[in-house]
Amino acid sequence: MTRRVALLGKPLRRRHSQVMHDAAFDAAGIDARYVLLELEPDDVAPAVEAARGPDWLGLGVTAPYKLVVAGLCDEVEADAEAIGAVNNVAKSAKGRLIGFNTDAPGFQVGVELAMGRPIAGAEVVVAGAGGAAHAVVYACLQAGAARVTVGNRTARAATVMLERFSSIGDRRRAAVALDDPAFRAAARNADLAVNATTVGMVESGVTIPVERLPAHATVFDLVYVPVETPLLRAARERGLKAANGSEMLIAQAAIAFERWTGVGGMADVMRAAVAPLLADTTATA
Ligand code: NAP
Repeated sequence: MTRRVALLGKPLRRRHSQVMHDAAFDAAGIDARYVLLELEPDDVAPAVEAARGPDWLGLGVTAPYKLVVAGLCDEVEADAEAIGAVNNVAKSAKGRLIGFNTDAPGFQVGVELAMGRPIAGAEVVVAGAGGAAHAVVYACLQAGAARVTVGNRTARAATVMLERFSSIGDRRRAAVALDDPAFRAAARNADLAVNATTVGMVESGVTIPVERLPAHATVFDLVYVPVETPLLRAARERGLKAANGSEMLIAQAAIAFERWTGVGGMADVMRAAVAPLLADTTATA
């Protein structure tokens, strides 16, 4: 019996996850495939229910179903509950559907690789307050960042996000508008600047005041299509360390794969498999 994992979402334009997971199934000698299920909203609950069957290893979940699937799981892990999004579902030994989130640990792996140091103790500025920013800010606060300053186009969304995380530690934090002078001021002391908006992917532009960052700062852009956003180009032109979201993408996939199969250490296989897609400089969102 060939077993399956399905990615649920709509639209599903990218094959990156499929390519990584299928390569990992092959490398691990597991008879399974990762399929893309572009679903209408009414078809999501039946698809989740079907995943209880023995031929299913689990599910991946992407926009716009991360919240709805959380409500269909038997259990949602604390991190996913706190972040407010389930992006994967695994099955317990008893067949219960467990919703979890891999964006936060995937971000931490990717960004610590880019920085060459732990997030702990770092001054961080984050642009964005959407789904991905929730995982980024949660990871930074949990990992013990010294300060997290969030700038969002809609300042209210940044404030609401930080309120959601008010119980995490006693780390300093602030929520401001992206164009607030306080965001530019925070950039002066930043060890890490993160773009967690869609800017650079769906439209051109730069969310971080790169010229304000100190020379040792790392710029991390969650966007990985295109390979180099205007933000990353500006950071590199200034001689700063800069990385796109590809290592986060690979790390979160490897974490999910281990949860579904019990087989760890697949990041290298996945990186090699997805390299041609990631290197496609003609790819657009
Ligand atoms: P989302 O929930 O739709 O949030 C979008 C964010 O972008 C919001 O903060 C929004 O601000 C902001 N934004 C949109 N247009 C803007 C503009 N013109 N100027 C300033 N801010 C703008 O999206 P998401 O799921 O968080 O995804 C964000 C990005 O992260 C996407 O590019 C996605 O591909 C990437 N991502 C990468 C990975 C990875 O593994 N590398 C994982 C997850 C996500 P408002 O609140 O003001 O609308």
